[in-house]
Amino acid sequence: MHSSARSAIAAWCQLSRDVSVRGIVALGVIAIGCGDDPPRAPTQPTPLARTVSALVIEAPSTMLEVGQTVMLTARASYSDGSDGTVVAGWQSSDPAVATVDVLGLVTAVGAGTSSITATSGGHMAAVDIHVEEPLGRSTADRRDDIGGSQLHVMYVLPSNGEDRQLDMDRTIATSIEAIQNWLSGATSRAFRLDTFGGRLDVTFYRLAMSDAEAAGLGAFLVRDIERELSAAGRLAGNKIYLVYYGGRNNQSCGSAAWPPAVPGSVGVLYINGEPAGAPPCNTNPLGASPTRMGYWEYSGAHEMFHVLGAVATCAPNHTLAGHVSEDPTDLMYAGSQPWQPQFVDIGRDDYFGHDNGACLDIEDSPFLEPSRGSMQVRSSGGPWRSLSDTR
Ligand SMILES: [Zn+2]
Repeated sequence: MHSSARSAIAAWCQLSRDVSVRGIVALGVIAIGCGDDPPRAPTQPTPLARTVSALVIEAPSTMLEVGQTVMLTARASYSDGSDGTVVAGWQSSDPAVATVDVLGLVTAVGAGTSSITATSGGHMAAVDIHVEEPLGRSTADRRDDIGGSQLHVMYVLPSNGEDRQLDMDRTIATSIEAIQNWLSGATSRAFRLDTFGGRLDVTFYRLAMSDAEAAGLGAFLVRDIERELSAAGRLAGNKIYLVYYGGRNNQSCGSAAWPPAVPGSVGVLYINGEPAGAPPCNTNPLGASPTRMGYWEYSGAHEMFHVLGAVATCAPNHTLAGHVSEDPTDLMYAGSQPWQPQFVDIGRDDYFGHDNGACLDIEDSPFLEPSRGSMQVRSSGGPWRSLSDTR
């Protein structure tokens, strides 16, 4: 062994005697023996090494489109009752459908189903990964999987806006997935989404307005976008709409209808918004991961709650046209503190799951449904400045 490596290990061995090094185990350093320890007479029997009693694969998603990736994790239960993630051997039954690397990263290659297996400690686990061709772009609302109230997602550009194909490269679909996973964990509800064959139905639309014309409309831009979509026959009466707008806005990163005071069925995220005195909106990552909430994901949920009428003026902590004043970690907070959304209606007294029958409760909305279980979702970025989305 190289002498500098040996001295580094000796230093680590000293460290491991001095302090708890639980965190280092995850880096694999535990495999190094601290051989310089002086021999000692055992004072008690050495405990038996724990063995793997069961192995499972954790998959954030098992339905992929060609080109998409997903990281699988192997988790072992041990004979002593503990459990944890383990290094496993990975294999794909059909590499023409999906490949898997040594870390468990699956890449969808072609349409079909492949069984991905993990082996560790003499145990094996398997998960079926289904791969489909991407839906591609649609300028019309595709046939609905479900009837009744539902949330439809759109990718809208100004007449001269750069087409980043966010509807085709799964950026918007991943952003929506993150919102659904987070909302499920926070409320055990999720939006009733407009899907086609089980996949998010995203409509593409290009406005007649130029980027410059639209930018100057400020928070009122949502109204003009709704008018144009309505005149073009793109809006259905049983749907609410979340628009990812690839253009600028000189006032905010998002705005929305807020019935009954501001009637409408559309909420818009201004991806290239440039509000005065704040960083450009597009410095926030969009749709980074189905298990990570960023600024845009919280904003999307925030704007759609506005479209559903939240926060109603009868709510005890209502402030600033549709927001709550109590706590900057509330999804619907607005005020002087930086917005750090994590929770839905803190205290359950203003807009979600409260017991004031006379005031709007989003929990009862037909646009929400019981969630089908939730994934662990982390927040990224933040704290973010307060939304300036009133109009
Ligand atoms: Zn708002």
